[in-house]
Amino acid sequence: MSLSKDQYDSILLGYSRRQDRNRHELDRRRAEIYARIPEYRSLEESVPVMGMQALRRILSAASAAEEAPQPLRSAPSAAPASDFAARMADIAAAKRRLLVSNGYAADYLDPIYDCPDCRDTGYLGDRKCHCFRRQEISILYDQSHLSELAAAQNFDTLRESWYSGEDLIRFRKAAAAARAFTEEFGRVHRNLLFHGTVGTGKSFLSVCIAQKLLETRHSVIYFSAVGLFDHISALSFDYRNREQFTDFLSDLYGCDLLIIDDLGTEMTNAFISTQFFSLINERLLREKATVISTNLSHRELRDRYTDRVFSRIASRYESYEFSGTDIRLQKKILEKRGLSPV
Ligand SMILES: [Zn+2]
Repeated sequence: MSLSKDQYDSILLGYSRRQDRNRHELDRRRAEIYARIPEYRSLEESVPVMGMQALRRILSAASAAEEAPQPLRSAPSAAPASDFAARMADIAAAKRRLLVSNGYAADYLDPIYDCPDCRDTGYLGDRKCHCFRRQEISILYDQSHLSELAAAQNFDTLRESWYSGEDLIRFRKAAAAARAFTEEFGRVHRNLLFHGTVGTGKSFLSVCIAQKLLETRHSVIYFSAVGLFDHISALSFDYRNREQFTDFLSDLYGCDLLIIDDLGTEMTNAFISTQFFSLINERLLREKATVISTNLSHRELRDRYTDRVFSRIASRYESYEFSGTDIRLQKKILEKRGLSPV
């Protein structure tokens, strides 16, 4: 999948807006420091004067070498240039000391970047930066839909009142794991398997996780199993779309978090099984986190998927069981009776 020209342009426009915003902020900070620490300003203004003086010395050294009689002629000395560099370093250090002694951070007047890696250009050489890829993924995989879901389904709207007894204990365990998962994300490599009966909060918790990670600017791809495998099949069998297929797999293998919802509802065949194994395995090798939700029990998972898929999931995913009556059904019944669900 690739971006349309408009989509690409709008991402680039975002970078130029970020650069403008950060430049303005830096100008504002500089004006503040000039007003509060006049000495800082004098130091800064001495730089162009010294630069001109150094340039003059370098030029006159060069022309003296040029005019010297042939046997005495030598390469122009590098001394004026290195002397200038040393003085510049002294001034930079003095400026930092001034900032710190006035209660500012030493880097207060350094250039400001949202993404220091690409300096808000979106590119590292001719490669797209991770911050560009995150936006690209968000557009390509229709995350406006995910964002809509996340607006209603997040840790703040999570309710325990749908559960009781053993079901509640299970749900609390899973919810605590989901929270810990987002808090430790990027530091600890974890994968989650939410399994259990229909409508007991598995997808809800998956969306909560997605919402948290989108908030912290991670690349998240969310697919229902049916949608995911349909997409893989459609792209792989269309030879005109070879490149798109490769890009799609590289997004699936490389995004920070992949969520596969409702595993087990898709049609499987040998090709899909192989693709599924590669996906699970590749993400484990790259230490990329995956969250899977399914209505299948462990036994059903083992029966439905190949041994190697099952063994990866059983050994590398933390498994949480969900149980209870179907919440979606309970909500519908309440709505029919004119009662709003809590
Ligand atoms: Zn970047």
